[in-house]
Order: sequence, then C-alpha cells, then structure tokens
Amino acid sequence: MDPPILLAVVGVLVLALVAGFLLWKRHPSESGEETVAAPAARSVLGAALRKAFGTGVDEGTWDSIETALLAADVGVDATEEIMTTLRQTRPETLEEARTALGAHLRAELAGKARELALVGSPASIVVVGVNGTGKTTSIAKLAKRLKDDGKTVTLGAADTFRAAAGEQLQTWGERVGAQVVRGQEGGDPASVAFDTLDSARAKGIDVAIIDTAGRLHGKKNLMAELEKIYRVAGGDQVSEVLLVLDATAGQNGLVQVREFSAAVPITGIVLTKLDGTARGGIVVAVERTLGVPVKFVGVGEGLDDLVAFDPDSFVDSLLE
Ligand code: GDP
Ligand code: MG
Repeated sequence: MDPPILLAVVGVLVLALVAGFLLWKRHPSESGEETVAAPAARSVLGAALRKAFGTGVDEGTWDSIETALLAADVGVDATEEIMTTLRQTRPETLEEARTALGAHLRAELAGKARELALVGSPASIVVVGVNGTGKTTSIAKLAKRLKDDGKTVTLGAADTFRAAAGEQLQTWGERVGAQVVRGQEGGDPASVAFDTLDSARAKGIDVAIIDTAGRLHGKKNLMAELEKIYRVAGGDQVSEVLLVLDATAGQNGLVQVREFSAAVPITGIVLTKLDGTARGGIVVAVERTLGVPVKFVGVGEGLDDLVAFDPDSFVDSLLE
C-alpha cells in the first residue's frame, strides 16, 4: 500500500474507534444502576456561582446570581425570595453562597410526600401531559420499578388518538412483562380506561397505569376527555394523577401545569429529560405553581432511567 493510503486507512480507523468510544460513553445507564437526579451538563447555576465569586464580591456578584437563578429556571418568585435572603446574609465566599442557596432550596423542597400513594385493588394511576413529554416511556419505566418491587401491573392504552401510541405501549409492556389493554384506533379512551381497570381487577393485578393522549383537535376536547377518563377510572378513588413535564421546555411547562390541573387533580409530577438540560431549577418553579411534588425524574431513554426525586442530591447537583 502507498504510504498516503495507509495513513488515510489508519486515520479512519482511529476516528471510528474514538466515535465508538464516545457513543459507548453516552449510555452509562444501561448498566441499570440508580443514577443521581442530576442535570447532565454541569449546572448553569453552579457555573455562574463560580464565575460570580471568581472576581471578588461586589454589587455585580448579586446581579450575576440573580441572572443565574432565572437562567436555571427557578422562576421569578422563588428567585426574588432567594435574592432577598442572600442580600441579607451577604455570603463572602463561594462556599458561603452555596450554603445559603442550598439551605433556601432545601427548605423550599422539604416536607413533601414524594412516594407513590397506591390505594385500592388495583391501585390506579392516570398519566397526563403534552405529546412528546415522555408519558409512554415514563409509564414503561414506572411499570418496571413497580415490577422490581414485586408488584403486578396492567397498562391501559387510552391514547387511542394515534394507532402508533397503542403499539408503542404494547411493545414496552412486552419488554417489562405487563399486560396491555388496548382499544380501537379513534375509539373512546374512557372505555379503554374502564376495560383496563376491569381486567386488572378480574386478574387481581396490583396497579393499573393509564396512558392518555397529549393532543386532540383542541384543548377543550383534550381536557374534557381527560376528565372523563379520570371519572371512569374511579374519580377521587384514583391513586395518582401524574403530570409528565419535559424539563427542557423550561417556563413553558408551567403553562401546561396550569391547564392540566384545571381539568384533573394532579397529585404528582414526573419531570423528564433532566439528562438533557442543565437548568433543573424548573423543579422549584413547578412545585410552587402547582403545589404538588415532583415524584420522579427521567434521566434517559432506557427502562431504568426513572429515579425517585431526591431533593438533597438534586440541590447538590444544582449548585455543583
Ligand atoms: P409521549 O408522547 O408523552 O408519550 O412521549 P414518549 O414517551 O413517546 O417520549 C417522547 C420521546 O422522549 C421519546 O423519544 C423518549 O425516548 C424520549 N424521552 C422520554 N423520557 C426521557 C428522558 O427522561 N430523557 C431523555 N433523554 N429522553 C426521554
Ligand atoms: Mg405516548
């Protein structure tokens, strides 16, 4: 072989090896270990804090921190309160600032019941949210968690709006080992919810999880449909109504929070795609807006990438 050709071949091989390694590194969670609920990139807040204290403390330091809190999606109200405390305590070092902010954020997130409340046989969970936020994937992950806990699970494909939605849930159900109840495409979603609970009850299944559509012809239709599903699934006997929110949607997500909670009583939030953003402060803003706790966070596309939300490690990662 000519030396230039040999060089080219070796070059391509090296590139392929590097690319392969990088791809492999991107999927560490396939190992199935419990990941900490940490934003993937280093937190924007942590980075801004380091920068703000890098040049000594002056008025600019406080402005930088305020900007960073807003950039991290903590929200206007919470940011104002945090800044009031900071201006009073006047931390002089990065460590002091981290401690003061950490205390504030921890207090903000403290004292909420974050475990799933599973009552009844079957216990029922209705999952709602805008298309593409990760409802179906999160249901599969949740089913996996419940099965790992020794519970039996039935899934209901009440997103009858798109045929692909039912197929997607079916595929996940097979992987997890959960029965899936489906209806006709375009059929009545509430009757799928009914059949799901009926089947779960007859078989003595522990938990029934109902997937719903995220988009219909109009918002009114969707909300009316969700109300009906909720009623049929048992109304106030429903154990959990989980709203799935995409963390990368930022403050837009808060509009969804309000719309959905007007239709059905949300009991918990599943915040997905936290692996895709360094702006995890949305947790604080969401809990304030809705007054219900974030119960789980999604940190990837795999079955094991749903972790119980842990405020302490979350605050640590936000300030890191
Ligand atoms: P749905 O329309 O609300 O049911 O959303 P899907 O469950 O179909 O998910 C939409 C896309 O988001 C899929 O490609 C999922 O793999 C992806 N997804 C869901 N949760 C997460 C997550 O926590 N992290 C990442 N990176 N992707 C996610
Ligand atoms: Mg779906």
